[in-house]
Amino acid sequence: MRLTANEVNPLKGFGGSNPLVSAGNNAFESESGGKLLTYKVAIVGAGPAGYFTAQAFQKAQRDDLSFAIDMIERLPTPWGLVRSGVAPDHPKIKSVSKVFENIAKEPNFRLFANVELGKDVSLKDLRDQYDVVVLATGASRGRKLGIPGEELKNSLSAAEFVPWYNAHPDFVSVEVDLSSDTAVVIGAGNVAMDVARILAIDPTELDPTDIAEHALVKLKRSNIRTVIICGRRGPEHAAFTAPELRDLSRLKNTDIYIDPKQIAEAIEHIKEIDDVEKDLKNNIEALDTITQLYKKGAPRKLEIKFLCSPIEIKGKGKVEEIVIQKNKVIGGKVISTDETFSIKAGIIVTAIGYNSIEYPGVTIESGRVVNIAGHVEHNVYVVGWAKRGPIGVIGTNKSDSTDVVDLIIENLKEPKTSEGITALLKSGHEVIDQIAWEKINASECISGEVAGKPRIKEVDWKQLISLGRS
Ligand code: NAP
Repeated sequence: MRLTANEVNPLKGFGGSNPLVSAGNNAFESESGGKLLTYKVAIVGAGPAGYFTAQAFQKAQRDDLSFAIDMIERLPTPWGLVRSGVAPDHPKIKSVSKVFENIAKEPNFRLFANVELGKDVSLKDLRDQYDVVVLATGASRGRKLGIPGEELKNSLSAAEFVPWYNAHPDFVSVEVDLSSDTAVVIGAGNVAMDVARILAIDPTELDPTDIAEHALVKLKRSNIRTVIICGRRGPEHAAFTAPELRDLSRLKNTDIYIDPKQIAEAIEHIKEIDDVEKDLKNNIEALDTITQLYKKGAPRKLEIKFLCSPIEIKGKGKVEEIVIQKNKVIGGKVISTDETFSIKAGIIVTAIGYNSIEYPGVTIESGRVVNIAGHVEHNVYVVGWAKRGPIGVIGTNKSDSTDVVDLIIENLKEPKTSEGITALLKSGHEVIDQIAWEKINASECISGEVAGKPRIKEVDWKQLISLGRS
């Protein structure tokens, strides 16, 4: 959708069955005779937190209260981490996109993709034009280890590696060298697990997935046969979740190794805890099961090592070796020892969490937008990872967004009479609206069907826009 100069009706496209929306005004008589108020909401970020926020607004509508929702997204495609974060071999997790598309079908929802906060629109302008602005901008900057050698070539962050294999247009040209036989992944969380699995899996098992074509080609030529995950604390402290651990056993051509002694020690440590949480019990059970898995003698190996802190990455111009300090658990605390060892590895991927990115008008502290229960300032709110830090699975955003929307509704004043985003975007700005996105989506799915995949993702920004125009 290319905006024309006279396209300024803020509620354009909100007709349909919604009795509250009618151009130019925002207070109406309800069917029951009361006053109906429509509030204009801008949600910035079309990922899970953004969509669940839109859904919470839709569910909160009453006879006397309605919301006109504009979802603004920097990329020409929506769905956030469901498209560019979730591992390609986890299609079930991606099925939540059906929920997003149902939210988008509601008559009070409009998508404005290919619109960047801080470049195409400012936060101040959004604040002025909308009754409510909700930031759902996530946390996309990978945290750093801060150790010598981290800047070497082929020392990557999961914040680059994951969007690279997931066809994010900004990460297509990330240089990934898979010519060595060993990769080390730092971190004991689900992102580290995803990264390690993608490196360790036989790439033919990725053929029926929507992994980026450029990544699949590279993985098929990869020499990596051993992938080692290093967690700095013990198995009892790992951030993996049990389903992801159990999932490892389905790898057909990769053997999984964990030192049974480390699990036995963790089981002993847990006995000292009075009330062991169910998640921890499940995790230890899953880890213990892995130690007992039959080894197929596969050429590909994935090993999880615990109590290992990286202290230096070495190499001449590129990664060649990582030096690890051994840790131990004493009285429930993890302490470092004087013992070190090295792993010869040609690629290191760091998956130790994320920080939110700064933009004018927002203060970031401890990696997230400064907020109180989701309230930032005035009519600005925040949800998802930008609010609470990079914790939680996709579903966590549902209850979190509902809580923030409840707070927003408590704070609502009289609705503004303003034009919304069309007053802010330059004439000629090419917006990917819902119809354009559906064209992109259909085109990708059709290409995928021919190749026996759910979709083939387009990686070129201009080409995506052109598909939306077709
Ligand atoms: P995470 O779960 O917080 O794990 C981060 C890991 O990095 C932890 O093991 C942490 O160890 C380690 N770490 C942090 N700083 C470190 C350092 N300086 N040196 C060494 N290790 C360090 O984060 P994530 O893996 O990025 O995942 C983010 C969220 O997305 C999680 O809630 C996760 O469950 C979710 N997710 C879910 C799925 C799925 O459901 N399939 C997939 C991907 C992600 P400490 O515990 O010692 O700090």
